[in-house]
Amino acid sequence: MVLLVSLVPLTTLAQKAKSAKTSLVELVNPLVGTDSDRALSNGNTYPAIALPWGMNFWTPQTNQMENSWTYMYDDVKLRGFKQTHQPSPWIGDYAAFSLFPETGELIVDENKRASWFSHKAEIAKPHYYKAYLSNYDVTVEITATERAAQFRFTFPESGASHILVDAFNKGSMVKISPQERKITGYCRNKDGGVPENFHNYFVIVFDKEFTELATWKDSILTNNALAEGNHTVAIISFKTNKGEVVNAKVASSFISPEQAELNLEREIGQNTFDQTKANAEAAWNKELERVKTEGGTFDQNRTFYTALYRTMLFPRKFYEIDAVNKVVHYSPYNGKVLPGYLFTDNGFWDTFRAVFPFFTLMHPSLSSQIMEGLANAYDESGWLPEWASPGHRSCMIGSNSAVNITDAYLKGIRGFDIGKLYEAILKNTENEGPLHSVGRYGVKYYNQLGYIPYNVGIKENTARTLEYAYADWCISKLAKDLGRPQEEINRFEKRAMNYSNVFDPSVNFMRGRNEDGTFQSPFRPDKWGDAFTEGSSWHWTWCVLHDPQGLANLMGGREKMAARLDELFTTAPTFDYSYYKRQIHEITEMLISNMGQYAHGNQPIQHGIYFYDYLGQPWKGQYQVRQVMDKLYTPNPDGLCGDEDNGQTSAWYVFSAMGFYPVAPGTGEYAFGSPLFKKITLTLENGKQFEISAPANSSENVYVNKVTLNCKVYDKNYIRHIDILKGGKLKFEMTPSANLSRGTLLESFPYSFSNETK
Ligand code: CA
Repeated sequence: MVLLVSLVPLTTLAQKAKSAKTSLVELVNPLVGTDSDRALSNGNTYPAIALPWGMNFWTPQTNQMENSWTYMYDDVKLRGFKQTHQPSPWIGDYAAFSLFPETGELIVDENKRASWFSHKAEIAKPHYYKAYLSNYDVTVEITATERAAQFRFTFPESGASHILVDAFNKGSMVKISPQERKITGYCRNKDGGVPENFHNYFVIVFDKEFTELATWKDSILTNNALAEGNHTVAIISFKTNKGEVVNAKVASSFISPEQAELNLEREIGQNTFDQTKANAEAAWNKELERVKTEGGTFDQNRTFYTALYRTMLFPRKFYEIDAVNKVVHYSPYNGKVLPGYLFTDNGFWDTFRAVFPFFTLMHPSLSSQIMEGLANAYDESGWLPEWASPGHRSCMIGSNSAVNITDAYLKGIRGFDIGKLYEAILKNTENEGPLHSVGRYGVKYYNQLGYIPYNVGIKENTARTLEYAYADWCISKLAKDLGRPQEEINRFEKRAMNYSNVFDPSVNFMRGRNEDGTFQSPFRPDKWGDAFTEGSSWHWTWCVLHDPQGLANLMGGREKMAARLDELFTTAPTFDYSYYKRQIHEITEMLISNMGQYAHGNQPIQHGIYFYDYLGQPWKGQYQVRQVMDKLYTPNPDGLCGDEDNGQTSAWYVFSAMGFYPVAPGTGEYAFGSPLFKKITLTLENGKQFEISAPANSSENVYVNKVTLNCKVYDKNYIRHIDILKGGKLKFEMTPSANLSRGTLLESFPYSFSNETK
């Protein structure tokens, strides 16, 4: 018996040591990307304190509400701790409110109350944030659930301690209920994308009695317990002893004040701050552990898990669970409360590339719910979203909802109304939408001529043509799978070749084309925007995701295409910004990375390196992919190389570190690069494990000499989704010099539409 008793604490200790070692969330640095501004984006992120895909995120605020650069690493003062829903500074925030503690004289004004703080006394983790406000001698801690949060304020001895709840401007209300130690209210701030009745209802419950209360309404401070106006703030005050802790439990709802109370009860209830924090940590670790690295430096691991965290934030869950446990959502499209899932805050132009494919691989259940949400968005608005925040927003180009839907469905994800989604996709192929980003802007020209002309007043016409053509290839595959009429399949197969209509063989570049068939002139391949979107022809010429072989045919063969791809990295980074009238930040990010015309900081070219797999020269891609991972990604505040964009730039790293990338969602293939770690083990939702190992990996051994799949030599330059789902072992033999014979035969190349009939 004595022996047993003494063994128990030993085992517990061992377990503790083990769990401490494997808390992957500790490797995540949410401050990566925050050393950014309008002129230069090293990520343009803010530290999102949240659960994966949470309905609400929380962030410390160094800037005022009107400034979308919420948290800038170089700033030295904090003015609030904000519930945020911002997907990108270029779109802005909505439905935000903040909490802020003070001591001494009450200062309500957002610009005057800001307190000095330091990164030296700050902890930022996905599930937990801590900062010390030196002006007030108060420590603030935050931890989050999907729709709620807990705050822990540690006050000094003070006869006048305060907590402010700033519901911000553009319409808000606050109400203080001292008997219940509660503040309720709503905020309505937004920049668009919502119906007239849009509200974010919040409830905040404190564990300390208030001795005084006040409200502030449009600059007037009164003792009223209720304020409703453009900009309102609630203030509660009390005395505190040295080190006294005051807890606040916060929740919100887009549906109703009652639902906000329900969200608070359901997600926090009687839990302490530490319990909520432990739950949040466990929730992150559960997801992070499903992609388990071995080997790699400490910094590579920090970079990897930070990227994985960013890949799992957007699109956010915009649904709530009602009193009878049904999934319901407030529709940002028609203002009604309706059954079913809805997700938002996403630009598909960015995320179709690698974020959505990541979900199909690692989170098929989530992917299914997102697809159901798309069907709901179509029901509620008549259109599929392309850039939602929370409703449709006019931003970017393309028809990429078709890509996300096709990729999910063809990868076997079910549980949603594919018939309805296909109907929505077909509608897009024949109609312009109420906003240029919805439906297909320029569709009549596209369908008649096979391209959108340069000279008919539709901006970024060639980029639109290229993205529609890829979407049409996706639709042709989905149509086939759904058993649609042959005429329909043929129509989309024909349109899938429309990329060739904007290719000019005289310059071997994609180029704007006029209505009469002549090409736009004069032509500069380094002109940003104009016929293209946030890039030049150097970047958009490769936008033939479904048919690299077809592009090679247009260019005069694979050798010529490979030479042009080589030039991408060696050509001086000249540029013409006349379309934008200024050097947009994406141009600057290309210039400073010293990789020629290659502009990894923006999405159009992010698949480009992997095209070497289609040209029989995979070693060049292996080299470049490691260059990008090593140079352009770090675990530091300036550790990204352009807008992070809803997880896309991070998902590029996550996939690339695994050793493959989904160049063309819809094909069910992932093109090989060069894995970063000695081993990564994926634990799939179906319970199987897929191991990617590269035992000899090092900073010198970046080339792939040989690959085996389940111990058999594997000659392909890609792996199929279905082979990963089976579980198994993919092994890369890494060497310091290129193997110039592996992966050089047509049979090894990933999918190209033009090779289907080879
Ligand atoms: Ca971007």
